[in-house]
Amino acid sequence: MEDKDTLQRLYASMGISAPVYEYGCKILEKLEERFRQIDRMAEYNQLKVIHAMQEARVSEACLLGTTGYGYNDLGRDTLEAVYAKVFGAEDALVRPQITCGTHALALALMSNLRPGDELLSPVGKPYDTLEEVIGIRPSRGSLAEYGITYRQVDLLPDGGFDYENIKKAIGPKTRLVTIQRSKGYQTRPTLSVERIGDLISFVKGINPHVICMVDNCYGEFVEEREPSQAGADMVVGSLIKNPGGGLAPIGGYIVGTKECVENAACRLTSPGLAKEVGASLGVLKDFYQGFFLAPTVTASALKGAVFAANLYEALGYKVVPDGRESRHDIIQAVTLESPEAVIAFCQGIQAGAPVDSHVTPQPWDMPGYDSKVIMAAGAFVSGSSIELSADGPIKPPYAVYFQGGLTWPHAKFGLLRSLQSLLDAGIVTRTSLDCRKTSK
Ligand SMILES: *Cc1c(COP(=O)(O)O)cnc(C)c1O
Repeated sequence: MEDKDTLQRLYASMGISAPVYEYGCKILEKLEERFRQIDRMAEYNQLKVIHAMQEARVSEACLLGTTGYGYNDLGRDTLEAVYAKVFGAEDALVRPQITCGTHALALALMSNLRPGDELLSPVGKPYDTLEEVIGIRPSRGSLAEYGITYRQVDLLPDGGFDYENIKKAIGPKTRLVTIQRSKGYQTRPTLSVERIGDLISFVKGINPHVICMVDNCYGEFVEEREPSQAGADMVVGSLIKNPGGGLAPIGGYIVGTKECVENAACRLTSPGLAKEVGASLGVLKDFYQGFFLAPTVTASALKGAVFAANLYEALGYKVVPDGRESRHDIIQAVTLESPEAVIAFCQGIQAGAPVDSHVTPQPWDMPGYDSKVIMAAGAFVSGSSIELSADGPIKPPYAVYFQGGLTWPHAKFGLLRSLQSLLDAGIVTRTSLDCRKTSK
């Protein structure tokens, strides 16, 4: 890089005006220490993954796939051992046949619950797509259709656990407690692994036989420990989020106790076949390499989230988490207060993408969601949200949920582009950028 101006000129030629660029620089100056901490976390988790790969004796042969039944798939079985080690769990199911995060969660629930059992969420309403899995919104094939009941205890207004009502809600039928780590499409705080551990201890203190499951979507590698290292029996997530490192083209994982994972395997394939079948086809190299890259990719996404929080907070928008809070997932919520602003933000993210940057996203009725949603992607893997992406349900409080960025420079560019889009739409003014720059 010759000088700062060369870089700024390139930004300018890609649509970032001087006020937006300079405002972004000012915000970044204050984030150096924060970014150093994120890099340290990435270093820790990178070593953790390499250590697990070495201990599991990952070999070149593991990168090849099988076809047909997939008996004796060395690469698949070794990868599952690697996941189990990294998560500190007894066993793992990591498969391309698990089509997405919702599928992984549905599989974990349906395979570990039986008719007459009750499911409890002690952390409020679960992620939108799970409403149909559980049957909160009636749906074909839901747990409710199989006679599995559901109870929910909301978080307290300050975000704390409502221990008193959780205790009351745990009865003789309670078989499984589901804990969602990330806020999803809500503005509640994301749960730290430590808080999840506290909640699990509380539940186990009442009934040690209750299965504690954690929806770990977007949380992997954000902290040193995963929920399975804080007492969770089952931890579930998607490979087109953090642990796929941007390379996994499909897939989900379930890690946990031997019993829980075996139940899930019997449901995914068939009783009697369990983990023994399921050809890995050609995806193993990407699963391994993606998992290897995941700690640094997650760090890039985290830097983007922290930058976004500070960028928009200084302009007076409500951001969750705020600019200084500790992070437990890679999602950043920004409440933009109007449908126009949500649309402009998402269109800006899209315009900054390496793929489909010329496409203008519009709100649409997405399956599984109860309001129109606008989604900005432009990803190498369709729908991948470890890649730079944003989505906003078109309903009050008009918040956008921003996440991902395989590299920090892309996250930075995309966010500056989103701000440019708000400036161009007249939602953010030039004056507000200038005065924020000079104050502090
Ligand atoms: C993304 C997500 C899911 C569902 O994953 P899909 O892959 O979109 O089906 C579930 N829970 C949370 C918290 C998520 O973020």
